[in-house]
Amino acid sequence: MIDVCNIQVMKPLLAEHGFHFSKAKGQNFLIAPWVPQSIAADSGVDRDTGVLEIGPGIGPLTQQLCLRAGKVCAVELDRRLAPILKQTVGEFDNLEIIWDDVLKLDVPALVREKFSGLRPVACANLPYYITSPILTALLQADCFDAVTVMVQKEVAQRIAAKPGSADYSAFTVFCQYYAQPELLFDVPAHCFLPQPKVTSAVITLRVRHDRPWNIVNTDIFFRTVRASFAMRRKKLCNGLAAGFPELGKQGAAEVIAACGLSENVRGETLDIPAFAALSNEIVRRREM
Ligand code: SAM
Repeated sequence: MIDVCNIQVMKPLLAEHGFHFSKAKGQNFLIAPWVPQSIAADSGVDRDTGVLEIGPGIGPLTQQLCLRAGKVCAVELDRRLAPILKQTVGEFDNLEIIWDDVLKLDVPALVREKFSGLRPVACANLPYYITSPILTALLQADCFDAVTVMVQKEVAQRIAAKPGSADYSAFTVFCQYYAQPELLFDVPAHCFLPQPKVTSAVITLRVRHDRPWNIVNTDIFFRTVRASFAMRRKKLCNGLAAGFPELGKQGAAEVIAACGLSENVRGETLDIPAFAALSNEIVRRREM
């Protein structure tokens, strides 16, 4: 197996194929072998697993996933990588490369078609310029057991944040509605070529199969969450009134009181059960 993380191997390989990194495609390739090894090991992939990898690049994580998984489907946007991947991962017969933009794929259909009889997971060193849309698509697909990804450290902290902390955001609630996050380890900038300006981190999201909340309308739930964070450091009442103009300030105050919350409460201190209660109360009033 070609040691693609070895810079003495990687540089001539890229030069041989006239490959230049594309910043626009978020191409920062791993040059520290412990990183793809650890990501693959910590993602819990085994022979019963079907792995969707996003952005194989020249294949360091792909190799590690193929060594462990029943099947790997790797989705790559940049066709210039085809001859390189042929050399670095061509030997694996449990690998299929799909040349496409992951954001254009019907992920649940792909998982059904490719991973029949296998436990589906997603695993990737994500292109940072589209981390949030990709994670949103993977979680909304609602077909994976776990999603293990490398992202900017600050994004990982935002995903795993607790209510009331500076990192807690509408995106935190979105992710934690679908999954339970666990921060795994940091990856310093010097582990990549070219070096990004930020530290990265690997995070696992264990997808919830049973969501332990009674949420009567998920659209209103997520609208409530967005409205509650839209005016950070202001009282929840203002955010809810702006996000649901039909309530008005008086109605927003009544919703908050009906949920047993203080009139001075701020949205960024609330947990998912509190957002569930608020959104259910809003739904009840709209139906009155
Ligand atoms: N997995 C490799 C590694 O760890 O060295 C490469 C990771 S690099 C951060 C991100 C990869 O995602 C690149 O290969 C890039 O071409 C690919 N990519 C970028 N946008 C994509 C998209 N929309 N769909 C699929 N792949 C994409």
